[in-house]
Amino acid sequence: MVKLRGHHLICLNFYDGDGIDEMFKHNVEFIKKKLIEGEDIKIVKGPDDICMECKYLKNQICNFSADSETEVKNLDEKALNFLNLKKGVFVNFNELKRKASYAPLEFYKDFCNGCSFMEYCKCPVKI
Ligand code: SF4
Ligand code: SF4
Repeated sequence: MVKLRGHHLICLNFYDGDGIDEMFKHNVEFIKKKLIEGEDIKIVKGPDDICMECKYLKNQICNFSADSETEVKNLDEKALNFLNLKKGVFVNFNELKRKASYAPLEFYKDFCNGCSFMEYCKCPVKI
């Protein structure tokens, strides 16, 4: 079972972990491989299995930038609202892929606005 927070349910459809460091990228690739092989996802609030190998996680808080903890929490909420999912629920990656592919471009224009990883990501805003 892989634990994921809200915004990573969307981002992992388009992003492979580039832009932080090698350890982070390997972890993202490892987790995506498990998801593609069918491992269940449990939705969590706060730091997840992606954050756990991120050098910006300090004391369970995202320290990527001064406002990042607030920003990632907002993104978590936007993602869960759009996907109609909540903490504690189990999902699989195929279901997420289907839902993410239904999202209108307007959703991504808002969700991805100002994201520092845009240059590494294949999100629909760039297509
Ligand atoms: S651009 Fe950023 S917010 Fe948008 S899907 Fe990619 S990683 Fe997530
Ligand atoms: S930047 Fe923040 S939200 Fe993103 S993986 Fe690192 S700790 Fe988690």
